[in-house]
Amino acid sequence: MRITFLGTSHGVPAADRYCSSTMIEVNGSLYFIDAGAPLIDILLRRGADLDRVRAIFTTHIHGDHTNGIPALADLFSWYFKTTSVDIYMTEQAGIDAFSAMVRTVEGGLDEARVRFRLMTADTVYEDENIRVTPWPTRHLAAAGRPAYSYLVEAEGKKALFSGDLSQRLEQGDFPAYALANEVDLMVCEMAHFGVEHVLPYLEKCRAKRLLFNHVFPLDKLEKINALDGRFGYPIRTVDDGDEVTL
Ligand SMILES: [Zn+2]
Ligand SMILES: [Zn+2]
Repeated sequence: MRITFLGTSHGVPAADRYCSSTMIEVNGSLYFIDAGAPLIDILLRRGADLDRVRAIFTTHIHGDHTNGIPALADLFSWYFKTTSVDIYMTEQAGIDAFSAMVRTVEGGLDEARVRFRLMTADTVYEDENIRVTPWPTRHLAAAGRPAYSYLVEAEGKKALFSGDLSQRLEQGDFPAYALANEVDLMVCEMAHFGVEHVLPYLEKCRAKRLLFNHVFPLDKLEKINALDGRFGYPIRTVDDGDEVTL
C-alpha cells in the first residue's frame, strides 16, 4: 500500500500544511484517514481519478479531521456522477449536519453513491483490497463522545493511525495495539501531549517505523526527529506530500 500525507497540520492549517488527511492507495483504489484538508481540491490538483475513491474514515468529529467532507460530498453528488464513496463519521450528529449541508447547497444528496455511514467500535470495513478496524481512543472522552484509531491491513501489511489521543496520555491512551502487535507503520499525532509523555510508550512500541503528524507546537519537530534511532526503529515527522510505500 502507498500512503500519502495530504495534510499534516494540527487543528489549524499553516502556510505549508493542510489539516489532517492521509491517502492510502491499494491496487489503484483510494482510501482516506480523515478529511480535514480540502480533499476534493487536492485530489483534482493531483490529477487523481475520482472514480478510484472508495472510502473515507474520519477518526472523530473535529473540524481539522472532517471539514473537507462537505465539499467532496457535494461535488461527488451533483457533478462527478460516476463516483461512489463510503464516508464514515463517528457520530450521527455529524452525518446529519454534513448531509444536511449538501442538501441545503444543492437541493439534494445522491445517497446511492455518496453514502454517509456511522463508524462504531464494532464496525469493520472490508473489501477486496483493505480491512479497516477501529480502536476507541479517549480524545473526546470528557465530552462523552467517540474517537478512534484505525488499523489498516492491506497486501499483508499493517498500518496503525492513532487519530487524536487524550491530553492525558500517561493514563494509557497510546494505542495498545502497537504495544501488543507488530505493525509495519504507525502514524501518531503529537499535539495533545508532550514529547516526554510518549517516550515510555515508544520503548514498548512494536512498530517497524513510526511517523508523527498533527504536530503542535512546531518546535516539537526538532525534538521528535532527534528520537530517530533511539528505540531501534525509524522515527520522524512528516510533511504534506510525503509518501511511504509498505
Ligand atoms: Zn486534531
Ligand atoms: Zn481532535
